[in-house]
Amino acid sequence: MRLVMLGPPGAGKGTQATKFATRLGIPQLSTGDMLRETVASGSALGLRAKHIMERGELVPDDVVVSVVTNRISQPDTANGFILDGFPRTVTQAEALDQELAGRGIELDAVLELEVNEDALLDRIRGRAEEAAKNGGCIRKDDNPEVFRTRLEVYRAQTAPVTKYYRAQGLLGTVDGLQSIDAVTAGLTAVLAKAALLRIGDKISDASSIGKHSS
Ligand code: AMP
Repeated sequence: MRLVMLGPPGAGKGTQATKFATRLGIPQLSTGDMLRETVASGSALGLRAKHIMERGELVPDDVVVSVVTNRISQPDTANGFILDGFPRTVTQAEALDQELAGRGIELDAVLELEVNEDALLDRIRGRAEEAAKNGGCIRKDDNPEVFRTRLEVYRAQTAPVTKYYRAQGLLGTVDGLQSIDAVTAGLTAVLAKAALLRIGDKISDASSIGKHSS
């Protein structure tokens, strides 16, 4: 199964992507993680990406598209993958479609976590305060000021991706502010309605994917 997980920073994409990747036996491909690895490698590209990421802005499309294209060429993606944090622009979404079409495959569904921005900011402030209290560290781009930039970038550049996939009938949306288990159940319901997954969980709030629903 080939899935995309969409939603603003802090909405819980990574948490849900991990759960579904385990459950479906497919790799979770997080572009944020891949880029952080590139940064850690200390390469020139990594250094460039580091500054962009610390400001909460987007790494250029061509860089991210090439990282993802290489990754989905690996044999462990033969049965599918779940993209977490990609695509973040319509240009990236188009490049992904083109890349998959070239291989004669396509996405099965796009799962969107919808969250209220004020609630997200509260969540991120809470995390920062807790980390500070426990002597832990938070990601530099999770400090409330940079987080605000990431939200603005999401609104301007990534929100249109939702419309792009809705037009393709691939989008299923779930309220991301529910408990983790309720969100998982909602996403499961979306996939079940799209006839992509058998359902065992109790279903809460979920909307169907137009292309497949009856
Ligand atoms: P994430 O871990 O998904 O929140 O990503 C952390 C940071 O990595 C983002 O704020 C961006 O700077 C960068 N990044 C991750 N994915 C992408 C992408 N698809 N396009 C551009 N930049 C990205």
